[in-house]
Amino acid sequence: MMRLRFAPSPTGFVHVGNVRTALFNYLHSKKNNGIFVLRIEDTDVERSKKEYEINLVNDLKWIGIEWDEGPDIGGKFGPYRQSERVEIYTKYAQRLIDENKAYYCFCSKEELEKQKEEAMKQGNSPVYIEKCRDLDVEESNIRIKKGEKAAVRFKIPRNIYVEFKDIIRGNIKFDSNLLIDPVILRSSGIPAYNFSVVIDDSIMKINLVIRGEDHLSNTARQILTYKSLKIEPPEFAHLSMVMGPDNTKLSKRHGSTSISQFREDGYLPQALFNYLALLGWSPDNGKEILLKQELISAFDLNKVSKSSAIFDYKKLQWVNREHIRLINDEELGNVMTPFLEKRGIKFNPEKENFKWIGQASKVLCNYNHLLTEISEGFKEFISINYSKDLIKKTKDCETSIKVISMFFKEISVLDSPIEFSKVAEILRRIQAQTKIKGKELYHPLRIALTGKESGIELKDYIPTIERGSVLNIEPCVKNIKYRLIAFLK
Ligand code: GLU
Repeated sequence: MMRLRFAPSPTGFVHVGNVRTALFNYLHSKKNNGIFVLRIEDTDVERSKKEYEINLVNDLKWIGIEWDEGPDIGGKFGPYRQSERVEIYTKYAQRLIDENKAYYCFCSKEELEKQKEEAMKQGNSPVYIEKCRDLDVEESNIRIKKGEKAAVRFKIPRNIYVEFKDIIRGNIKFDSNLLIDPVILRSSGIPAYNFSVVIDDSIMKINLVIRGEDHLSNTARQILTYKSLKIEPPEFAHLSMVMGPDNTKLSKRHGSTSISQFREDGYLPQALFNYLALLGWSPDNGKEILLKQELISAFDLNKVSKSSAIFDYKKLQWVNREHIRLINDEELGNVMTPFLEKRGIKFNPEKENFKWIGQASKVLCNYNHLLTEISEGFKEFISINYSKDLIKKTKDCETSIKVISMFFKEISVLDSPIEFSKVAEILRRIQAQTKIKGKELYHPLRIALTGKESGIELKDYIPTIERGSVLNIEPCVKNIKYRLIAFLK
């Protein structure tokens, strides 16, 4: 059984790069009928916050990533929060100390700083010089018994190469002499990432780790730790980094990066899900708009690219629009509701209302990509601001006023909602009678109905205001008749 995990540290709002890692793990586990585990790596006590964990869980759920085991739902290998597993790590650390594969490091923070400064002065790189690596074990044990504080460091075996086959990057080789002995337990007794991750991945029977390539050198340290514990390491796949359009690491400078920000901006979760899946991978058939199930069936970890993925906001917007078009009207109406409420547009939660909101949103998405922009676009249907100059210009034009008056006469006997086919039929009649055609025929009508010279195509605009006018939407949508009367007044 394939077992994968996403192991975020709740030290901030979730970055899209991390969610893409979660997503690739999710897609690969689902594709292979495996298990997907969520584990919270909250051992950095100063930076980890409960609210970030809550946020993270909500963001993952919002985008459509579910897990089979995790802190909120439990599972066979729980607890799934590292802060609740400290005893386990301590036990394993003790085992390494007893086997002389780890050692106590008594250097204080200040001392470590001083060592680094010294190294720099001598032109060496400012790294830990492993002063305590060769301390006498007996002596160290006595110092500990006396109550002296010490961190525990893993003793990296020297003069060997750590080699492993990465599913994405191929063969990887690290010279162990370049790896500094990592802290595995801090002097406070709290474990450090490189250790707890090994213990948990092995206890939780994780057999494939998909994570960012910024962890490559950690993987080398971790493989050595697995070996020293005589545990078979999992397989690894390291994903390239997500970069901004200028090829630097994606950051706030480029635009939104946190999931909550994307949600507020008006992206659909399924669009973000779709777009993130295409960061470094694409299906064989070249299709770009895919729903979750299609992505799961098409996903192939072996085809994930090792070159960095560029986050293209323009493309994401396009993907968002395509997904807006895919949702059924009623559901889209539901999704739009909070965005419209923010703009003071209210309606009863009834099927017909949701349907209309969805249809109107689809009309507006021909001109906009985001739900926020679309909700802003509703004012096109709701408020009409006639400019005096434009009214005068239109009324002074003989053909324009003729078209509008004739149109009004025919329309005034009809009940709303009037379909566009009816409008087109009336306009055809006016054309036959007056020989006025094309722009001269449609343009005055547009001005009379919308108060503007350009905007949404009338074939979409007219049915939208007509259907909306018979619903209980607030502020109410005015129908053609009302608008013409207001214009002609
Ligand atoms: N907690 C680590 C991080 O957020 C996990 C890395 C890993 O997947 O091993 O970077």
